[in-house]
Amino acid sequence: MRRFHIHAILGFGLMMLVPAARAQDFDTYFDDRTLRIDYSFAGNARSQSIYVSELLQSPGWAGRRHHLDELPLDGNGDITMRDKQTGTVIYRTSFSTLFQEWQGQEEATRTDRAFENTFLLPFPKTPAEVTIELRDYHHRTTAALTHTVDPTDILIRHLPKSEAPVHELHHGGTSRECIDVAIVAEGYTADEMETFYRDAQTACRAILAHAPFDRLAGRFNFIAVGAPSEDSGVSVPREGMWRRTAVGSNFDTFYSDRYLTTGYVRRLNDLLSGLPYEHIIVLANTQTYGGGGIYNFYTLTAAHHAQFAPVVVHEFGHSFGGLADEYFYDDQYTPMYPSDTEPWEPNLTTLKDFSSKWADMLPEGTPVPTPPVTDPARVYTQVGVYEGGGYSSKGVYRPATECRMKINEAPAFCPVCQRALERLIRFYTEE
Ligand SMILES: [Zn+2]
Repeated sequence: MRRFHIHAILGFGLMMLVPAARAQDFDTYFDDRTLRIDYSFAGNARSQSIYVSELLQSPGWAGRRHHLDELPLDGNGDITMRDKQTGTVIYRTSFSTLFQEWQGQEEATRTDRAFENTFLLPFPKTPAEVTIELRDYHHRTTAALTHTVDPTDILIRHLPKSEAPVHELHHGGTSRECIDVAIVAEGYTADEMETFYRDAQTACRAILAHAPFDRLAGRFNFIAVGAPSEDSGVSVPREGMWRRTAVGSNFDTFYSDRYLTTGYVRRLNDLLSGLPYEHIIVLANTQTYGGGGIYNFYTLTAAHHAQFAPVVVHEFGHSFGGLADEYFYDDQYTPMYPSDTEPWEPNLTTLKDFSSKWADMLPEGTPVPTPPVTDPARVYTQVGVYEGGGYSSKGVYRPATECRMKINEAPAFCPVCQRALERLIRFYTEE
């Protein structure tokens, strides 16, 4: 099927019709190589800028080879690659970042900071124009940058293949057919690597035990990357504890005790260079509860806390699925999801554009807002429009009384989250 997009309005008032890239166009436009672009996102709460730090390349492309010009979810930013000569959109991807979360912090009202960001794109055969945009919670573009990638540029650095040992955890098929997930060791010394491989297997099993991952397990590959750390454990700044670890993660991100992240995104991706990976889970060798997951960025979570298994599944819901948190607080501060904007996350609504969400899954006659369900058999499965979600008790609605994206005790994703995950898996693995 050939579709046409109205691509650009020329300066003299003519409209140019440009054919969209089609599934079978992958080999027309791309080599079987990965283009890695390292960006710095910099600024403060009021203004942001994007800078190219470096272009890099490695053999092989593990990402999708179809739906090239489509986005499954908007994210808080996206990248569009165009063939420079014709303007045809040849690849798109979307993401969220730690930098954008930081913009909501008080610190961002008084300080400028820069954050590392790394994205993987298929390697173009001919010069391409790459446009990267960041958006706020009103979906307004706050920063954009367009730059040319010339595949013959001698300064596109050749990445050496990662030297970290790799164990296969789950094999669904070739990296071409499957979604490739890399689980990376953080804070495990060389002597502790057997513990890491067990932890990684626990994480992989926990994810694949959850619907819809269970019935679509054949569409995933999971590998464990045993990158050793000099010190055991991870950094806990509030205790003055700084450790030398593989990806330099720390608790107390943005001064929040439980928020465990790393700003060393390039180092993390260096550890994976030359391996097939599309999604990253970092397991931290610590008993302290904490973690985080950001859409198409990474998941990072504590491996030795009693809630490890449900938390890693929850965080993967963020980083793979682009799912929002369905929990909320009673005390109100600035809402993350403004009432005049429909969130892009599939499992929340402000009712601004509910028909784009799970309206079709709502049983007839369901009141809005829906009173929470108390019957234990229906708590996770009764689809409604329950008020409270996305950190706000008012004005934001979630699809079920309880869900894996709300509480650790939930045994499953709610039906709306399950459908969203399944759609995404099919987008990545079906033409
Ligand atoms: Zn849910």
